[in-house]
This record gives sequence, structure tokens and C-alpha cells, in this order.
Amino acid sequence: MADIAVIGGGAAGAAAFGELLARFRHGTVHWVVGQQAPGRGVAYATRDDRHLLNVRAASMGVFQEQGDAFIQHATRQLGQVKGSDFLPRRLFGDFIQAQVGARIDEARRAGRGFRIHPEAALEIVRRDAGGYAVRIGDGRWLEVSDVILAIGALAQRPLRAVSSTALASGAYELDPWQLERHQQVPRRVVVIGTGLTAVDTLLSASLRWPHAELVAVSRHGMWPCTHSALPLASHPQQEALNRALMACHGVLPMLRLVRAAVDTAPDSDWRSIIDGMRPINAGLWQRLSHAGRRQFLRHLRWLWEVSRHRMAPASGQAIQQLQEEGRLQVHAARVLAVDGAAPLQVTLRERATQLVSTLQADLVVQATGLDTAVAYGAHDLLSQCLRAGLAVADPLQLGVLAQPDGQLLDACGAPLPGLYAIGSLLRGNLWECTAMPEIRAAAHQLALRLGGRDEAATSRGHAGDGPGG
Ligand SMILES: Cc1cc2nc3c(=O)[nH]c(=O)nc-3n(C[C@H](O)[C@H](O)[C@H](O)COP(=O)(O)OP(=O)(O)OC[C@H]3O[C@@H](n4cnc5c(N)ncnc54)[C@H](O)[C@@H]3O)c2cc1C
Repeated sequence: MADIAVIGGGAAGAAAFGELLARFRHGTVHWVVGQQAPGRGVAYATRDDRHLLNVRAASMGVFQEQGDAFIQHATRQLGQVKGSDFLPRRLFGDFIQAQVGARIDEARRAGRGFRIHPEAALEIVRRDAGGYAVRIGDGRWLEVSDVILAIGALAQRPLRAVSSTALASGAYELDPWQLERHQQVPRRVVVIGTGLTAVDTLLSASLRWPHAELVAVSRHGMWPCTHSALPLASHPQQEALNRALMACHGVLPMLRLVRAAVDTAPDSDWRSIIDGMRPINAGLWQRLSHAGRRQFLRHLRWLWEVSRHRMAPASGQAIQQLQEEGRLQVHAARVLAVDGAAPLQVTLRERATQLVSTLQADLVVQATGLDTAVAYGAHDLLSQCLRAGLAVADPLQLGVLAQPDGQLLDACGAPLPGLYAIGSLLRGNLWECTAMPEIRAAAHQLALRLGGRDEAATSRGHAGDGPGG
């Protein structure tokens, strides 16, 4: 009977595993989770309640058909909760674990086969007779018909500007979620990046070191925009706008259409127009040529990121307060060099003036966002998959080549049967695929497809079991 392996213990792995458990009656569903607490991954492992979800509670969920289960869970924990609230990410991590736990209990009662492996997947081998063998940390091999890669983004690589002396000093932190390993109180902390991860890093640093001076640096020096406090009405012309966008060729005509919609609809908040594009974002990305995508990444990505990936209002207020109190400075600048030891010397070129200056910092934290450049990353499993021809790097370093449904492609562009990805690895194909609403829809579709095949095999088996079989 066909078994399936889901690799990755984050929220995407949890969604795929739980969806499969509910549908897969025969064979075993393996979940290879590594050594972290399964289900939380990078985003929901935080214990800091100032780290908020950037999606309203009503839109957060781990499985497709579960209505307001997260709101109910949060209400049990916190008392009164509204669907429009931006709740702590820790709470969503607890929720994922509870939801997967419930699916596991159901699967046990129904006698369905599953295994959770607290090891990393190290190697995938394609079998000539079909299917794959997955080697996991303890040296065992799992023989499966299908593999779902849900391994999230890659660990951060140091920026090229960072010297080996700085890296070896221990004062350059590549993992923004590990501030607690810095025991010495810094006088100045420099955070490279001004996106959502940088915001959380600065909020944690401000609490942990109340007397430290905080500096944030990014090329544009722009914070993510904030969400409105209450949900916004939809833009009345959104459908027409989306149709027009889908008929566009090229990035600039798309940008002009969105700008015109914002300018000519004073009664619609621009944020509702951007949000209303959500159903067509993947389609728009797929319509762009390679050159169009490059143009977007080079000139518009920052604008898209700050407008589309907004922060909770409370996070925005906390950052503003730090700036007003004079504890946080922001530089729109390029980091030219990080060198030295204790303190580190951070050399910047200011965007507006082109002036070069050097700051001293006791701690520098790199918070530059998702890295999906698989060809350059040091991810053992992905590197092995690239070498074995089981994955091909996206030419713009946005994950791996795949079909829109997540099935991986080989170097000739042919689908690799039974090999899928979900989440960040698919950015080259879908662009927007890393938030929970997209992840749970993708997990659901994959489970329907693989579970449907399982059902079909069973019915054929039953037909064959009949009197004439
Ligand atoms: C700070 C932050 C905040 C976010 N906030 C929100 C939000 O509020 N709402 C929202 O919808 N989205 C949010 N997101 C988007 C987020 O990416 C998704 O919600 C989701 O957490 C992605 O989960 P994932 O499983 O794809 O990746 P990850 O969380 O990165 O999990 C992947 C897991 O796979 C493991 N892994 C890697 N390689 C292997 C291997 N070889 N074997 C076994 N395991 C392996 C990793 O160790 C990791 O635990 C946020 C993202 C971040 C980074």
C-alpha cells in the first residue's frame, strides 16, 4: 500500500500531515519533523507575546474546513476575542498543536497508519519502480510513493558585507529569534532589515535591553504599513480591476492600473484594493515573463512587501513610540561592511546623501527576510535533491521549479511524479505562497489529490475482491 512522507515540522507540514490523516485510509502517513516542537516552525515558536500575527484571527486556521476554530481556541485562552483581532503568534502555535493532536486522536480511533519522526530528512532517492526512499536522521529509510517538502525558507546566510572576523566574534546574529543567547547587555544594537521580522526583533530587544540604543538599517528604511484597526469594506470595483489586471502584459501596466484604482476611489482604502488582489496574485505572477519578474524584484518588490505584508496596529504603535522616545533610529542606507569584533564596526552609505559613515555596535542582528536561494543555501536535503536532479533551482532564486499545484519539475521541465512542495519553496511559481491562508489551501488540495487516489485504489481493490475477482 502506498505511504506518504511529509518533510518539515512547521505550520505547512502540520497542515499537510493533518489534512492527509483525515483522508488517507490505507498506508502510512510519515511526518518527518526534525528536533523542534512539531507544528510551530519558525513563525509560531516564539514565546514573546509582543510578536503578533499579521493576519486577523478570523482568517487564521490550519485546516481548510474548520470555520472559526482559532477564534474559539483563543477565546478559551484569553476570554473575549474578536475575529478582527491580531493575536499573539504563540497562541496560534498552541492552536496548531491542539488541532494536529485532535487529528492524531481521530486517526488512532479509526485505525489509520501514521508515524511522527523526530529526526531530519537527509536524503531522497527516486526508485526505478516508482516512489521514493527517504533517509532520516537515525539512518532508517522510509519507502513511500509520495513526498511533500514543507521545509520552509532556508537558514539565513550572512550578507556579503560581513567579514569573517565579525562572524566569528559572536556579536553578529544570523538568527533573529535567538536574542536570548546574548547574555551581555549591549549599548547599541543594529538590526539589518526593516520588515516584519525586524519589527519583532526590535520589540524584543527593546524589552530585553531597556537601555540599549536601537538602530534599524535597510535600503529604503521603510517599515511595513500597518493594518487598519477594523476590517475594511471591499473596493466596489475590485472584480473589474482584477479582470483588467489579468489582461495586462507587464509590470508597469499592472502598477498603473493599481495606482489609478487607488487614486480614483477615494472612498476605498488602498489596503482593501491590495488585499482584494489576493485571489489573483499567483495568476499575475505567472503572467509575467522572466524579464518582468526581474523588473518587479528589482524595482517594486520593496513597495509590494511594505504594502502587502503589513503589521498589526499594536506593533506599528510600539515602533512609533520607540522612535518618538529617541530609542530607535532608522537609516535608509546600504550596509557596506560589518567588521571588527567587540564592538563591531558597521559601515553604511546613506541612500539620500550617499555619505558613508561607520557605527559601532555591540550586537548586529540580520533580519533580512525569507531566503529561498536554494542553489546557494547550505540545506543538506535540498542540496542533495539538486545534485540528484530531484529539484531544480528557480532562475531568480525563488525556491525550486514547480507546477502551480506544487509538483516539482526536473531539468527538462517534466513533472516529477509524487514529489511536491508547499510554502516558501514555491515562490518562483506562485510568488505569494507563504501565509497560512495560502498554505492551508495548498495542503488541502494536495490531500484531496493524494487521498482521492487512495480512495480510487481502494474501490478498485474492493471491486477485485468481489465474487468474480
Ligand atoms: C516571523 C514570521 C511571522 C509570520 N506571521 C504570519 C502570520 O501572522 N500569519 C500568516 O498567515 N503567516 C505568517 N507568516 C508566514 C509563515 O511563513 C507561515 O505562516 C508558516 O509559518 C510557514 O510555515 P512552514 O512550515 O512553511 O515553514 P517553517 O516555519 O520554516 O517550518 C519549516 C520546518 O521544516 C524544518 N525542516 C527543514 N528541513 C528539514 C528536514 N530536512 N527534515 C525535517 N525538517 C526540516 C525546519 O526546521 C522548520 O521547523 C510568518 C512568517 C514569519 C517568519
